[in-house]
Amino acid sequence: MKVIKGCDVVYGFSFDMEEKYRVSPGEEFLVETNDCFYQQIQNEDELIENLDHGAFNPATGPIYVEGARAGDVLKVKIKKIEVDSKGCSLTIPDAGFLPDRVSQALTKIIEIKDDFAIFSDDIKIPIRPMIGVIGVATRKEDGLIATDTPFRHGGNMDTTDITQGTTLYLPVAVDGAMLALGDLHAVMGDGEVCVTGLEIPGKVTLEIEIIKNKKIAWPILESKDSIQVIASDPNLEKASRLALLEMIRILEKSKSLSFEEAYILSSLAVDMKISQLVNPNKTARAAISKDIIDTKTLFEKL
Ligand code: CA
Ligand code: ZN
Repeated sequence: MKVIKGCDVVYGFSFDMEEKYRVSPGEEFLVETNDCFYQQIQNEDELIENLDHGAFNPATGPIYVEGARAGDVLKVKIKKIEVDSKGCSLTIPDAGFLPDRVSQALTKIIEIKDDFAIFSDDIKIPIRPMIGVIGVATRKEDGLIATDTPFRHGGNMDTTDITQGTTLYLPVAVDGAMLALGDLHAVMGDGEVCVTGLEIPGKVTLEIEIIKNKKIAWPILESKDSIQVIASDPNLEKASRLALLEMIRILEKSKSLSFEEAYILSSLAVDMKISQLVNPNKTARAAISKDIIDTKTLFEKL
């Protein structure tokens, strides 16, 4: 299997990213990722203020995907996520969802044992590894978007369902797509309230397919049971609205419904969820059961 090393990283997604690696559709490949602090934290004495902030949020890549053309959809199957045996989580003064309540920086090193994160002697959290940052080159009009920020191209979506066994669909803006990823979390709750997950280096096994000439406004995630639109905006309500509008558009097209019908169907069957509340753009998702819509019909009619 092709191994893509974590030493080539980007700190932004743009229209003019330069290829560092190349993969073909249908081939399995493994991507090594750094943690979001580039492994600068190795013990609990290392607080946020002592770190090189310029090295935060490295994403491994860019990976050129043979045959991907602007206007296609990149189908990224997340086959496996392996995380290291130790990660970190911290408070950052003036950051997170309760910035006014953080009086001091605290760093916690957290070990992983037998698929549990050992928070303390009596608090053990079952791990659920996920990818925090994954995206492709941006549209020209969107310019350069730092890897700490999620938008239409993906990026720092910090969405718990971007996990092993799910499939992420990203809109391709340039030939080759230019995929990059990093910022694994061994576990994270929806919201990522204190501004970090359990930040950890690791390895992700992916396989890519290309869906030709289909337009999606936002990343779409397919889990075992659901289809989710993931949208991001500085304002969480606006992000929720953008996710819902794209879901309604998908339902109108794939089920031949009027706006009003799709709106009512959404009120009955779409779950609005929070991905994260703490990044420069906040992320929300609109999820619907695969009993109602599957990705095959979705992409046939789009
Ligand atoms: Ca993140
Ligand atoms: Zn992270």
